[in-house]
Amino acid sequence: MNEPLELRKVTKYFMDGEQKAEILKELDFKVNRGEFVAIVGPSGSGKSTMLSIAGALLTPDGGEVIVNGRSLGGLSDSEKAKVRLTSIGYIFQASNLVPFLKVKDQLKLVAELAGSWDDSARKRADELLEAMGMSQRQNRRIQHLSGGEKQRVAIARAFMNEPDLILADEPTAALDASRSNEIIALIKREAHSRNKAAVLVTHDESVLHHCDNVYEVSQGKLRLR
Ligand code: ADP
Ligand code: MG
Repeated sequence: MNEPLELRKVTKYFMDGEQKAEILKELDFKVNRGEFVAIVGPSGSGKSTMLSIAGALLTPDGGEVIVNGRSLGGLSDSEKAKVRLTSIGYIFQASNLVPFLKVKDQLKLVAELAGSWDDSARKRADELLEAMGMSQRQNRRIQHLSGGEKQRVAIARAFMNEPDLILADEPTAALDASRSNEIIALIKREAHSRNKAAVLVTHDESVLHHCDNVYEVSQGKLRLR
């Protein structure tokens, strides 16, 4: 079976005034099925850039991104959108939910976009909201939730379409320590139990014990820590 994610010699730069700032330099990275990997590194080192490239949200300036054995390089924007919707569950630092939707309707929306809101999708939504402790709030609008509650809905949404690859960018920044550990344990369970994979970008040393491997971004490359 193909690896969920592989980055080959990925390069990315941004213009800093007149200067070209190279953020990622021929970075190589591979995640195996069933693996839960953490990426750490100082602020500004390129973690979010790397994750955005892995999640088909940002195009690299060089190198190749392969998701489930499929190179993203030759895909059109709509093909990339399809990969994001069906193969990748992305959890952002800010939850990026639709504020006026009700909790359960967030999950309905992504299920409909990917296929259908049928009985099995409804059941999955119910199970996810239960696992996130959000069953009681399923009819509440997103804008009326606390930061931690929003993040739990964002995680349920990321899991909804059973993605093979979960990418989480500092998902616990808005949560307290015990809730953080719970959330990370849920991501880990998802990565392991269904033989998928998850990549977690984090500042939080206290959750690293959950991870199979920890990498550090340094000078544009990833090093196993
Ligand atoms: P991290 O997530 O590790 O804190 P980022 O990947 O967000 O780091 O950013 C890495 C570097 O790239 C930073 O110096 C940041 O300012 C710069 N950067 C990120 N996105 C852009 C952009 N769209 N335009 C210009 N510079 C950017
Ligand atoms: Mg970041």
